[in-house]
Amino acid sequence: MAGSLIQGAVTRDNLRPVTTQATQAATVADVCALLDSWYPPAWAESWDRVGLVLGDPDAPVRRILCVVDCVPETAAEALDRGADLIVAHHPLLLRGVSSVAPTTYKGRIVHQLIRAGVALFVAHTNADVANPGVSDALAARLGLRDLRPLRPAEGAAAGEGRGHGRIGRLAEPTRLGDLVRYAAEALPTARWGIRATGDPSQTVTTVAVCGGAGDSFLADARDADVYLTADLRHHPASEHASAGDGPALIDVGHWTSERPWLDGVAERLRNATGLEVLVSDIITDPWTLHEPGRASAGTTI
Ligand SMILES: [Zn+2]
Repeated sequence: MAGSLIQGAVTRDNLRPVTTQATQAATVADVCALLDSWYPPAWAESWDRVGLVLGDPDAPVRRILCVVDCVPETAAEALDRGADLIVAHHPLLLRGVSSVAPTTYKGRIVHQLIRAGVALFVAHTNADVANPGVSDALAARLGLRDLRPLRPAEGAAAGEGRGHGRIGRLAEPTRLGDLVRYAAEALPTARWGIRATGDPSQTVTTVAVCGGAGDSFLADARDADVYLTADLRHHPASEHASAGDGPALIDVGHWTSERPWLDGVAERLRNATGLEVLVSDIITDPWTLHEPGRASAGTTI
């Protein structure tokens, strides 16, 4: 399996094989080229910023750390665990900056990584639409089958099952309440857990999922029994729930919805390069405290 992946990368992208046995060490540029072949930058949204953010392309790579967010905690983790390259899902620098002085939040991270010789690579919306991509990993944790894109990709990424989100079927019909409980066990949930709207006793079979903020795909999920995503905003979610003719909604939180992808990309990198590839379990959602509150009886599932 590893051999065929390496071979595929070599013929497709003119890479030299990168294995631990290779006489010449893998470089940042080698690993970036491999990631670009799986998640071509042309598949990213026009507003997105993907690819190598910082680091010397010629620097050797021995250990990689995969993270959802490059924040001070995960940057420190990369240094602690001896990683030479961070593969992150979210861009560190999305909007234009005029300074990376170490007196700024992001500038401190940039300085810290460059000083330690750690490179940073981002695969964001190009990894969302890929097949397999971010939502495939989420769907796999829930055991969904017969997957298709929730919104098929257009333009450069069109075709071959690519697109935003996934829609598929559970192995057998399940009560919504049981699916919520199962999702809380099957996914790497953050402290605030999972919230949902809908009748817990209703039967669900067809499930739409979307890693990350998914309320812009609410209309695409209308044929599903339930839509599991993150960051559902008050107005779109409550209007949808009040209409009563669409899927039940499950909001698992942003980090939880995208963390499963890290295992997939880490395994692909391990197989293709023979390098040591680590996955961060530091929860990078900003919410660190959770208190149910007096008025939150909710519905028992
Ligand atoms: Zn995201």
